[in-house]
Formats: sequence, structure tokens, C-alpha cells
Amino acid sequence: MRNPEDLNSDDLISLNPDVAAKPLDERAKIFDMPAIGKVDTETRIPITGLTFAKLSAEIAQLGKEKYRAEQVFFWLYRRRIRKFEEMTNVSKDVRALLEEKFYIPHPPQINRQISKEDNAHKYLYRCTDERTIETVLMPIKDRLTQCVSSQVGCAMACAFCNTGDMGLMRNLKTHEIVDQVLEVARNYPNDIVQKFGDRITNIVYMGMGEPLHNLENVLDSIDILTHPNGFNISHRKITVSTSGLVPQMLELGKRSKVNLAVSLNATTDELRSEIMPVNKRYNLKALLDGCRAYELGPSRRITFEYVMLKGLNDSRQDAQRILTLLKGIPSKVNLIPYNPHPASPFLRPDLQEVKAFQQYLLDRNMTTTIRISKGPDILAACGQLRSKEALKSKYQEGRDRKAAAEKRSHQPSANA
Ligand code: SAH
Ligand code: SF4
Repeated sequence: MRNPEDLNSDDLISLNPDVAAKPLDERAKIFDMPAIGKVDTETRIPITGLTFAKLSAEIAQLGKEKYRAEQVFFWLYRRRIRKFEEMTNVSKDVRALLEEKFYIPHPPQINRQISKEDNAHKYLYRCTDERTIETVLMPIKDRLTQCVSSQVGCAMACAFCNTGDMGLMRNLKTHEIVDQVLEVARNYPNDIVQKFGDRITNIVYMGMGEPLHNLENVLDSIDILTHPNGFNISHRKITVSTSGLVPQMLELGKRSKVNLAVSLNATTDELRSEIMPVNKRYNLKALLDGCRAYELGPSRRITFEYVMLKGLNDSRQDAQRILTLLKGIPSKVNLIPYNPHPASPFLRPDLQEVKAFQQYLLDRNMTTTIRISKGPDILAACGQLRSKEALKSKYQEGRDRKAAAEKRSHQPSANA
């Protein structure tokens, strides 16, 4: 377990460096959060981890009326209250029973950074075991999208990804996924509220972690966030992104109607296995057969994400192979110019090259977008989420990879 006092320097409070110097309990006060050890998390259950069905069952077990679950959901997710006593239309005895068994989490915010470039907000929350979780709020045109984490770290070890370097520390519990959305919502900045009202419009499971490696908790969190008495976000506005865990992907398709995004990132097994070890388990054929079998709703498509790595996967042949690979799958392609991070050996292609790649696909009737990542100046962009401590410890490894990439960059890009 990480010692809370370790969280004291460059990880913290970029908005106000004075705060970073204070002890953790002091910081908790500044952010109006309970001090360490004050939340009784040992004996009580976090109520935001309960789906509506599970909460209804709990309330039935307490011998109370069914409609109480609706009331509780309303207070939790619409009014976003922090104490049971604020649930004023719930009778006192029910509140007391709830209080005995449950608590309402509000994870301490230990950092918030705002991108000067695009107003993306990156939040860092502390879990009860002192691990930290990152989530990013992204105002993009008429959408307010939140990118949530599903794990601390990630086991998939993709070579280009900052989170992948950390290894998997643990799965997030259902409530820890929901609490990212809830806690950010309790504190939406004024300019965001003025523009978007009191709720995000979209959720993407594209933060730290491989969501399908934590499928049950991810499904429960979706259940809670889509519930009409909860955040009431439509399934169509939620996207789960996977590196390609095929059986879990098929399971997701059976059990949920959210959008699926698949991180393709390479067009040959050779390169994909090199940069995404998951490909050794489920190769391109297995992955794309899985996509063909995926239960898509009417007029829905799978999004294929494609991180563009200069000189590695950005050639004309790659673009051609994308079209061949995706034949027969209702798909769209999302090109993500690689976001460099300090210890990384890969290079981002020029925007012109990315646009030429896009045009090639567009000309052949493949819907293709370019994702200009949010918050690059605060390391909030895809693949850049991780704690700085982990980053430092991997720095040497990064330098070794850089040397390997320099060798590779002598191979000409076929884009020319
Ligand atoms: N684990 C899931 C979801 C989180 S990663 C997945 O891999 O799909 C979200 C997206 O960011 C993925 O498409 C991934 O390929 C991409 N990504 C990771 N590191 C990146 C980087 N450094 N630059 C650009 N995109 C990156
Ligand atoms: Fe994990 Fe996704 Fe990063 Fe790969 S790209 S290491 S699956 S978070």
C-alpha cells in the first residue's frame, strides 16, 4: 500500500502549489473532504456500488417499501447529497437503517488540473487504500464527456501506453467507478454548468485500465449510471473501449447495449503482438471474428481506434489492410495521433500524414475521424494517465526502448 505521505509533491494540486506542501489531512480539509480514517469503510458498505436491483433487494430485506430505492437513487445521483440525513422525504427510521449498513462515499480529490489548451479537467482521487484514480472531464463542442478509469494500472502492457507500464495494481470496485462520475458532478466548475447544465452527456471507459478485465464491476457501474433515477445516461452515449479481450467482449455485447470501441492499432499480427501483448492470446483473426459475431444493435457500428505511430503503422499499406481487415464489420475508424509521454520511444506522425491516411480511408467509404486528444499539457490524453511515481521508476526502461526505436526509424515510412 502506498503511504499517504508519499503523495506530497509533484503529484498534487497543480492549481495551488501551497496546498501541496500541507499534510494530507490538511489538504482533505481544504477540499472539504473527510480526513483520513474518518470514514467507517471497514464495517459499512459503499451505497454507490449497488445497482438499483441490488439496492431494492437490500431495502426489501430491511422490510421497507419498494419505492424507497427510487427515492434513494434520486437523492444520491440527482441531488448528489453527502449525508443520509439530507434525504428529507425518506422516513427517519429508513435513513437510520441505511446509515447503519451503508455509507455515501466522497473520495478526496487530491489533485485537479485544467488544460489551458482545451479546458479539459483532470481529477485525481484517493481511494480508501490510498491508491489514486484519474478521470478526465472533456467539454467538446456540445458534448460534455467524462473519461473514467476501470482499474488502477493495467495488465495489458501495451508498449505505447503510459498506464500499461504500471502493471495492474487492482480492479476498481463498482462504487469507485461510479464515484468518479458522482464526485466530479458534485463539483462541476461554474463555466461547465453554465454551458452543459448539471450532467455529462457522454461517458467513455477509456481511462486507466482495461475495462473488460473488470467486466462485472464495469457492467454494474453502467447499470447505475444509466438508471432513470440515477444519472440517466443513455446506453448509446456510453462507450467501452477494449484492447481485445474477445470472450469478455462477446459477453459485453450480450449483456449491454453500450457502444464498443476496439483498439486495433496495427494491421499485422507481427506488429500488433509486439506493441500489444494481448494479440498473442487473441490475434487479429480471433479479434475480428469476435467483432463479426458481436451483437450490435440496429444501425450501430464498432469504433476501431488506431493509435498512429510514426514509421510503424502509418503507411499506405496499413491503410489498405485496415479496409481488408474490417470488411463485413459495421465499423468506423478513429485515428489517434500518438500522445508522447516523457519516457516513451515512439513518435507521432505529422498531422499532414495523419490527414492523408484519413483521406485514403474516407475515399473508400470508411467513416474516419481523427481524435485530437484532450488536455495534452496536463498529461490527460489517451495513454497518458498514470501516477508520476510509477513513471519515474520506468524511466530507464523507456530509454532502452527509445534506443530500439531509433534503430527502427531508419526504416522508411511507406506513407511517402
Ligand atoms: N484499455 C482500453 C481503454 C483505455 S486506453 C483500451 O486499450 O482500449 C484508450 C485508448 O487510448 C486506446 O485506444 C489506446 O490504444 C489509446 N492509447 C493508449 N496509449 C496511447 C498514447 N500514448 N497515445 C495515443 N493513444 C493511446
Ligand atoms: Fe491497458 Fe489500454 Fe493502456 Fe493497453 S492501451 S495498456 S489495454 S490502458
